[in-house]
Amino acid sequence: MSPPFNDKADYQQYFGKSHEMVRQTVREFVKKEILPFIEEWEEAGEFPRALYKKAAEIGILGMGYPEIYGGIPGDIFFKIAVAEELMRSGSGGLAAGLGSLNIALPPILTAGTEAQKKRFIKPVLAGEKIAALAITESGGGSDVANLRTTAVRQGDTYVVNGSKTFITSGCRADQITCAVRTGGEGAHGISLLVIESDASGYSVSTKLKKIGWWASDTAEIFLDDCRVPRENLLGEENSGFYTIMENFQGERLVLAVMANMTAQLALEASLAYVNEREAFGRKLKGFQVTRHKLVDMATLVEVSREFTYRIAAKIDAGLNQVKEISMAKNFACIASDKVTYDAVQIFGGYGCMRGYPVERLFRDNRILSIGGGTTEVMKEIIAKFII
Ligand SMILES: Cc1cc2nc3c(=O)[nH]c(=O)nc-3n(C[C@H](O)[C@H](O)[C@H](O)COP(=O)(O)OP(=O)(O)OC[C@H]3O[C@@H](n4cnc5c(N)ncnc54)[C@H](O)[C@@H]3O)c2cc1C
Repeated sequence: MSPPFNDKADYQQYFGKSHEMVRQTVREFVKKEILPFIEEWEEAGEFPRALYKKAAEIGILGMGYPEIYGGIPGDIFFKIAVAEELMRSGSGGLAAGLGSLNIALPPILTAGTEAQKKRFIKPVLAGEKIAALAITESGGGSDVANLRTTAVRQGDTYVVNGSKTFITSGCRADQITCAVRTGGEGAHGISLLVIESDASGYSVSTKLKKIGWWASDTAEIFLDDCRVPRENLLGEENSGFYTIMENFQGERLVLAVMANMTAQLALEASLAYVNEREAFGRKLKGFQVTRHKLVDMATLVEVSREFTYRIAAKIDAGLNQVKEISMAKNFACIASDKVTYDAVQIFGGYGCMRGYPVERLFRDNRILSIGGGTTEVMKEIIAKFII
């Protein structure tokens, strides 16, 4: 993949020629390296580790990261193009698993020292190591400020005790960017540590079975007197909460993109199906009720996608979009909830059957309004801005 250039055509506000080149490269990769195997990987609950290396080789993993760490710098729309094309695998789990570095590495990029960046970012972008983000605990995910995992300093080491759950890529992550309590109660007592999976006292559950995202391995991670070198602390002690909140913005944007693509794929499958399937002697598209359903689905997809792109462009321009990202994520999930529901309806019984794309899209979709901050948490954020 060649590096991106500034060549956005006037008629395309967001994507230029080099974005399209990247898109085509990823689309070919998905066709050749993922689609033939995705059913098998979904059933297995993971994709082969070798796929990280292959994705790294064509620049998928490094997209948007500085060249010095092995990345390919570019604006936010390169990352969006990659995310959209990975979703064309029809598997949210594949996209989430392969993309877990995009929630694990940004805190290192923002708060880490040069030495930490070289050590913890480079091998991940090269596809040699797997990175995951570990914030959520069994006692609660929304209320990050009250997390319970502790890290107590003993000389040059932190001794970490607690556990993390629902961690994407958690079963086989080589390193986790982990939120811990180093100080007192509340947001001001939280730090971020990079914990390597070979640390003493680090262990992992078996794969958690989920409603959707089957191709991503999800784990509970246990930290029992886990010893972590002090040099793995990101930024100042007790300053982690703000890095975590900033990191959520990127995650929420990607989740909005995933929701939009989930809806787009469900719409595409439905449009193809109504041209084939017949009932009462005519094609399904011959029923006005079906046509109107498809029109509503297409409207939701287009409106949501355009809003998400607009917010992305503003973020790229350096504007604060905390309220708008929360709106974009919620709206994209409203759209994908409705569109995937209606897609299954259009497919009838086949929509409920394994092997039909809308069945998986419907299941995968359910996670999107929970992961990265729930609908209700997004609303609390929006309320703070507008009320
Ligand atoms: C498939 C999957 C992958 C995930 N991957 C990761 C990962 O890689 N790393 C990671 O750290 N986490 C991950 N998560 C966790 C995810 O971020 C949390 O599930 C999410 O933040 C919600 O936390 P919770 O599940 O503890 O729900 P809770 O916080 O217990 O919330 C339960 C319900 O209460 C509501 N609620 C909570 N607070 C409020 C409030 N103030 N006002 C109104 N309603 C409220 C919520 O909206 C929700 O409906 C993943 C989750 C899933 C399902």
